Amino acid sequence: MSDRIMAVYNRAPVVFERGVGPWLYTKEGEAYLDCVAGIATNGLGHAHPGLVAALTEQAGKIWHLSNIFRIPGQEELAERLTANSFADTVFFGNSGSEAIECGLKTARKYHAANGQPERIDVIGFAGSFHGRTYAAVNASGNATYLEGFGPRLPGFIQLGLDDMDAIAEAIARPTAAALIVEPVQGEGGARALSGEWLLEVRRRCTEAGVLLIHDEIQSGMGRTGRLFAHQWFPGAEPDIMAVAKALGGGFPVGACVATAEAAKGMTFGAHGSTFGGNPLAMAVSIAAFDEIARPETLAHATKVAETLSNGLRDIAARYPDIIVDVRGKGLLIGVKMVINNREFMAAARDQHLLVAGGGENCVRLLPPLNMPIADAEEALKRFEATCEAVRATLAKAA
Ligand SMILES: *Cc1c(COP(=O)(O)O)cnc(C)c1O
Repeated sequence: MSDRIMAVYNRAPVVFERGVGPWLYTKEGEAYLDCVAGIATNGLGHAHPGLVAALTEQAGKIWHLSNIFRIPGQEELAERLTANSFADTVFFGNSGSEAIECGLKTARKYHAANGQPERIDVIGFAGSFHGRTYAAVNASGNATYLEGFGPRLPGFIQLGLDDMDAIAEAIARPTAAALIVEPVQGEGGARALSGEWLLEVRRRCTEAGVLLIHDEIQSGMGRTGRLFAHQWFPGAEPDIMAVAKALGGGFPVGACVATAEAAKGMTFGAHGSTFGGNPLAMAVSIAAFDEIARPETLAHATKVAETLSNGLRDIAARYPDIIVDVRGKGLLIGVKMVINNREFMAAARDQHLLVAGGGENCVRLLPPLNMPIADAEEALKRFEATCEAVRATLAKAA
């Protein structure tokens, strides 16, 4: 492995050359079943023909255009995002972190525009992940991501998801600006919040004039079987939402979407991006959106999710020495391990099954929404074979 790359990742010793749907292939032609999907990014699998066509067609026209010009693709995609959500207005960036940055800036600017610039507190949660930029790591509930990077920025508060009294108290403070939460925690280990929790927090934020931000970077774009995870719970809609990952079907793009009211401070000059919303990203994202938002795609994702989570629960019952719990929502599935999750990931790779890690010693399965049922069944076979291999290794060590 090259030491010319900053060693911030612990990379698996395997190189893939191409992908088709939920399958990845090495140069030697070895096939791996991909339940990582670029960490929930390749929502329609690898090399989706519609997305390849959209990208290559746009590539022959215009790649990049400054945001000092109109970009029709942005207007088309914003039309789709707002027509299919609570939101009225959109800012496009290139990543999830940028969508979060825009969301946090939008929230503070809203209060400044209302003559309450003292409202700066962002309430976040233990186990949450919002990205790696400065504001995002300050909002995230993983203190190790802040270590060595200087003091915590002012105006960021961390609470436990289960401590509703503390949450209510923080929301009611006169310095509270926004509360940021993932309706289904991704990196934290696929923890799905209840409708009850989301609705109570929505109600308290509205009462106190605090903006509610949903980070749907991982849980959005069909991953839970609805376009956005909070849409399972009518009335839980946020004021601002960060979307990225599957939005571009694997092409880098992010979006901060908001109500017109919440975005009232985001006037000319308040924010910007050189590459955000470029024509290539918009062309692919529009094609991905139209495919993902189809009722058939969402219904299929739910079917795949049922196949996988039922199968995984059966496997968990047969391997209580290896698996503690199966959780998550839709195709954001977490399997909490007895053994070290990194060891399980490596053992799964030996079975040519790719799974992601996650907090609380989970492995996550985040396959493409359009994974064929037969491939989901194959994934279950390989998952069980991994459990069997791990058990044999444990027996030998004992
Ligand atoms: C991936 C992710 C982010 C960060 O997105 P990047 O594109 O890596 O900047 C933020 N929030 C959640 C919930 C994510 O899953």
